[in-house]
Amino acid sequence: MKVVVVGAGEMGHGIAEVFAIAGHNVGLVDVKQEFLDKGMTRIKDSLAKLEEKGRLKEPSTTILSRITTSTDMEGAAKDAEFVVEAVPEVVDLKREVFRRLDAVTKPQTILATNTSNIRITTIAEATSHPERVVGMHFFNPAVVMQLVEVIRGERTSEEVIQRTVEVTKAIGKVPVLVRKDVPGFIVNRINAAETLFFCLLAQRGVRIEDVDATAKAQGLPMGPYELMDFVGLDVAYHSLEYFSKEVSVEYGQCTLLRDMVNSGKLGKKSGRGFYDWSKGRPEVRGNQGAFDLTDVLALEINEAVKLIEMGVASPQDVETAVKLGMNRPFGPISAAKAFKSSEIAEKLSRISQQLNSSVFQPAASIREGRMREVLEGREVRPQQASNVVTLERRGKVALVKINRPKLNLINGEVMEQLDKVIDELWNDQSVNVVVVTGQGDNTSAGAELGTFFRDPFQFLEFGRRGERTFRKLSEIPKITVALMKGYVLGGGFELSLACDIRLATENSQIGFPEVGLGLVPGWGGTQRLTKLVGASRALYHILTTERMSGKQALEYGIVNRLVKDEDEALNFASDLAEKAAPVAAALAKRLVNKAGEVPSDVGLEMESFASGVLFSTEDLKEGISAFVQKRKPQFKGR
Ligand code: NAD
Repeated sequence: MKVVVVGAGEMGHGIAEVFAIAGHNVGLVDVKQEFLDKGMTRIKDSLAKLEEKGRLKEPSTTILSRITTSTDMEGAAKDAEFVVEAVPEVVDLKREVFRRLDAVTKPQTILATNTSNIRITTIAEATSHPERVVGMHFFNPAVVMQLVEVIRGERTSEEVIQRTVEVTKAIGKVPVLVRKDVPGFIVNRINAAETLFFCLLAQRGVRIEDVDATAKAQGLPMGPYELMDFVGLDVAYHSLEYFSKEVSVEYGQCTLLRDMVNSGKLGKKSGRGFYDWSKGRPEVRGNQGAFDLTDVLALEINEAVKLIEMGVASPQDVETAVKLGMNRPFGPISAAKAFKSSEIAEKLSRISQQLNSSVFQPAASIREGRMREVLEGREVRPQQASNVVTLERRGKVALVKINRPKLNLINGEVMEQLDKVIDELWNDQSVNVVVVTGQGDNTSAGAELGTFFRDPFQFLEFGRRGERTFRKLSEIPKITVALMKGYVLGGGFELSLACDIRLATENSQIGFPEVGLGLVPGWGGTQRLTKLVGASRALYHILTTERMSGKQALEYGIVNRLVKDEDEALNFASDLAEKAAPVAAALAKRLVNKAGEVPSDVGLEMESFASGVLFSTEDLKEGISAFVQKRKPQFKGR
């Protein structure tokens, strides 16, 4: 098989070596010949060592002769059957490499990425054939480490997964299937929680030498800080950064690593990190007992349970991944056998409280005393436990609901899942109208304040994240309808304001309590309400925090129609979904939203362009024929 490895750095050179040892012809690609030469020297040295130890079945020169190098990626990849990308962990760079690979490779060529954390779907979106893009996550050093996580992107085909698993086995590695595309997959997801834990401990002033000495006394080859230095503090910091954007803002609490990286302390590679490496490996001298190792086990078990709850991997695969990927004698699944759910739950609640981070809060199954069942694979409820935003499709209508106990308060998890649901619906041709509301009697009584007040920067970022998600909702090319019922306060009101049409029950209670709490409406409320009702009414309601009823909101023009209940709202939505031509509706909405933001001659010009685009749609012809024939149109969205 002709394999191409893109990037000849730390990982790429090792991956190329692994494929060549397994008998494949390998094209190794990098941007400069000097990087290729360096990679080849490392391969040569490594093969020589393996040969010396009698680990090779063929002379190292034969293996080496299978690897050719090139700085012309397109030329090397055009006849490849399998490509593994190992360029730096930068989303845009990876997407660009995949766009270029997609353009030159044969359609059946598998395009694999060795990304450590980035979702495969994000990279695959840059190609015209996302079904052939897969994750193939090797561990460092690739020649030594047995584990490869094979990750299914949202659109990866079953055939591509199977072939990648076979290829992984054929090159002598152990594949672990990651069924759901979550940031960090299995090993790095678990690792990230630990990194955050140790970073927060260090931030609180714990003596790092004592922690490392404690870990080593328990038989670990390196303490956590020594290990972070060894791998690179920049790598740890960038992973946490990615997690803070994709999983929870609280991964951004680790400011210590950021400061160290910014001041050039990258660990071993720069000679200085938590320790001084300028004279070789530091000698760690510390007192034992600085932390409880079972606390770290509890964190690992917690992350493992979350992964299983989400349907990311089977318990056996999580166990294998941690053992092989983190060089552990046992993984979290076997470790958990020594504990009861309640013991782990207690530990996690204490850690979460002490370090002031919800990342460590116990997963639902642990909280509810079902840890064993989940870890033993007896009870897997993918997503159910943590589905705080639900999506239901009813014909052309999608019903999106915040689903949290009682008041549907909005927290980081709600925002994250809402964002994903918006992405999922964005290109879904079968949906024309999206109804947004809450489960039960209330839309939402606003943001969960308990998770709000940490440091100002985090609060700012939490606000910005919500603002981005609501903006995305306001821009989705579908008709969005808010159903405002019960409490529609703060963030719940802002969620409704980000929709195109608002329906409300007569007695719903609508308002902005923020100023009374020392806050301002932070997810678009001050801007969107003012546009709807003008500064006078907006100021009145924001400053007095006075609530209005659905009926009053209708009089103000905030609400378009009153409805009795959800059924009536859904009937309205399905009628609308049939009546409105999807492309025309999406364009009309965009034009209206731009009105007042762009000069009117620009807005008018945009309108003409939109009309021009619509002229070529089948739906326009259908709309006019149906009108002439006095029948209901059957729009297709094209
Ligand atoms: P690295 O910086 O050592 O190597 C990356 C190489 O890619 C460099 O030689 C660079 O010149 C080359 N490159 C950059 N742009 C390129 C382009 N457009 N075309 C071809 N080559 C290009 O990085 P690394 O540590 O090998 O990491 C590579 C990937 O593997 C990253 O996604 C990383 O997250 C992942 N990974 C790293 C480790 C690790 O421990 N280092 C482990 C597992 C996965």
